[in-house]
Amino acid sequence: MAEHESLEFGKADFVLLDNVSLEEFMTNLKLRFEKGRIYTYIGEVVVSVNPYRAMNIYGRDMVEQYKGRELYERPPHLFAIADAAYKAMKRRNKDTCIVISGESGAGKTEASKYIMQYIAAITNPNQRAEVESRRLNLFYRPALHRVKNMLLKSNCVLEAFGNAKTSRNDNSSRFGKYMDINFDFKGDPIGGHINNYLLEKSRVIFQQEGERSFHSFYQLLKGAPDSLLRSIHIKKDATAYNYIKVGGLIKSSINDGADFKAVADAMKVIGFTGDEIQTVYKILATILHLGNLTFGVDGDVTLIENTKLVAVFSDLLSTKDENVEKAMLYRTVATGRDVIEKQHTMQEASYGRDALAKAMYERLFCWIVGRINDIIEVKNYDARVHGKNTVIGVLDIYGFEIFQNNSFEQFCINYCNEKLQQLFIQLVLKQEQEEYQREGIPWKHIDYFNNQIIVDLVEQQHKGIFSVLDEACMNVGKVTDEVFLQGLNGKLAKHAHYTSRKLSPTDKSLEFDRDFRIRHYAGDVVYSVVGFIDKNKDTLFQDFKRLLYNSSNPVLKGMWPEGKLRINEVTKRPLTAATLFKNSMIMLVENLACKVSSLDDKPFVLNTHEPLHFKITCLRVSAQSFEWGSEKNMFRTLLCALHQAQRVKSPLLFEQERCRHQVEYLGLLENVRVRRAGFAYRQTYPRFLQSDTLQHVLTRPLCPSSRYKMISEFTWPNHDLPSDKEAVKKLMQGCDSTTTRPTAKPSL
Ligand code: ATP
Ligand code: MG
Repeated sequence: MAEHESLEFGKADFVLLDNVSLEEFMTNLKLRFEKGRIYTYIGEVVVSVNPYRAMNIYGRDMVEQYKGRELYERPPHLFAIADAAYKAMKRRNKDTCIVISGESGAGKTEASKYIMQYIAAITNPNQRAEVESRRLNLFYRPALHRVKNMLLKSNCVLEAFGNAKTSRNDNSSRFGKYMDINFDFKGDPIGGHINNYLLEKSRVIFQQEGERSFHSFYQLLKGAPDSLLRSIHIKKDATAYNYIKVGGLIKSSINDGADFKAVADAMKVIGFTGDEIQTVYKILATILHLGNLTFGVDGDVTLIENTKLVAVFSDLLSTKDENVEKAMLYRTVATGRDVIEKQHTMQEASYGRDALAKAMYERLFCWIVGRINDIIEVKNYDARVHGKNTVIGVLDIYGFEIFQNNSFEQFCINYCNEKLQQLFIQLVLKQEQEEYQREGIPWKHIDYFNNQIIVDLVEQQHKGIFSVLDEACMNVGKVTDEVFLQGLNGKLAKHAHYTSRKLSPTDKSLEFDRDFRIRHYAGDVVYSVVGFIDKNKDTLFQDFKRLLYNSSNPVLKGMWPEGKLRINEVTKRPLTAATLFKNSMIMLVENLACKVSSLDDKPFVLNTHEPLHFKITCLRVSAQSFEWGSEKNMFRTLLCALHQAQRVKSPLLFEQERCRHQVEYLGLLENVRVRRAGFAYRQTYPRFLQSDTLQHVLTRPLCPSSRYKMISEFTWPNHDLPSDKEAVKKLMQGCDSTTTRPTAKPSL
């Protein structure tokens, strides 16, 4: 262990604790945190504690200290993990991934940005390769500097449109992001791809008290030049727009004005055209105006009250007034062979308006991701000519969250966290232990809570909550949230992780008839069933799609291709939001499982000492933002604010209980136990017999290994021996076997 990680700073790896107990774990974590050491290892997992203050540990000098070094040479750091992932990818010529997990506000997004910055800094630092690639005619290589810049800038744009202030985090990710960074055979970044997961679009029209809508709206109002605002009919005053002030227009630590300029610049750097950027602003303005659109009735006719807005919409959407009016007030329905126009009730018109606002924002967000992908995706790369193109994937997804009111969105977010926890359990706790058993190595089983039961509760076919929800949505006639709740109570009455007000009438945490509660791996969450059906069906009248498709603005038109379908051509029932989300989560986990596999054809098999999967577990040890509804929280928050205001170097409040809970539910202690009891070095038989490095094998593929010349009379491949396994046995018999076993394993 390096000198600077002496005992003064506690143990740099939890595996080195004298006793693996929660007490010792917490003492070590706290000691390190208070000494400014926010990172600690559990083997190759980094446990990161959010410091909530600027740390001087991410500069160029730090990059140099970690570049090319082995994990244990330097104190624990994100850079060491990024370097290990990069090295593993290069050495083994395989994809690697870094999964970042932790609850909301724990520091996942910040960590993902530092990792990308590190990778950008260590690859092609002096642009040398630019010149070289031109010399070698490597046309798939766009200017590497540009690629890196685009990858970094894409964060800024996605955060503006996909992040918002919540009661837990001023910059909370309201979408999931999985980003692949592609590298060429030399290890230089040549492009990337972003997968985005379920944006919390309900935030466009509603925010809980103390929260904000997406940053993009406030940035526009604060930072856009007057000429732009005039051209999109927007006033500088946020209080003028209903949709974005529901949460009380709380002040946040974010500088919206400066961010507007940064995002506009980033869009230009990435390669958005002027027309595209203009359309983005027009869509934001349309949504702001939609929030102010009101309807009235005259007899049995529904009317738009503030008719001046119609002209504003037709200007922003490049269409005609009458088209706007018609789409707002009527819907076209097919009855048998006939197509008729049906007038909305006032309630339907308001519903349609809100659905349009949410859908336009969601579509805008997906379009932005798609455009970034178009631009950054690797083109003209021929693996046969240039060698394999490998990737490092970085997953930064919304963290587990419990609010005062939890709805469909929290349900999906928490399910997603259950899936990722399950992946961790599979890899680190289950498969790892099974592997020792499979190999016939004596192993005392280490117990852990397996959350598969909760994953099944949500996603199982026919019985799971998503299935019950879909069934309820499929009912003909009036489908209500209550019908859905009855379905849940009927199917899940005996489930250990489910209950509801009806099933547990005396339970104080279930205040209302509409409440149900799930016992998640990270704690109990009470969900209100209100809105589940609507959000799951996610209906948008076809008339709106047609309105936007028929716009004379080609950028807007391009976002709504399904608007070209005529009403009687729209027959297929679209997949529900829950099903789409479930499918995307299953795909994500499969993708990660494939990357994790060290063998080509067997996902989840971990039989080498050099992993292809790295994990950062983020912990949140203090409440930085106000959490509504609790005086205790308010007191805590004020104390934290005081600390921050003083800007003292002393550590922030370390809330023992909050942190202990996370350590427990994340299974970190179990992780330490498995890691300690296990073998630090593992290798497949053929690789063990090969020469030292992959590079060596690649350059001298036919040369028998002379690696063990000093300890064995044999060389490999040795055709007299029936298998590689036998060869390893032979080798071991010929030498002191302790050299390949970890010595003096600490006891549990
Ligand atoms: P969510 O799930 O809500 O998106 P998150 O885990 O992504 O949460 P971040 O947005 O990364 O959380 O972090 C929340 C805040 O904590 C940041 O805005 C920043 O103020 C602070 N923070 C996080 N990591 C660090 C760090 N390494 N150094 C300093 N401050 C940090
Ligand atoms: Mg985040």
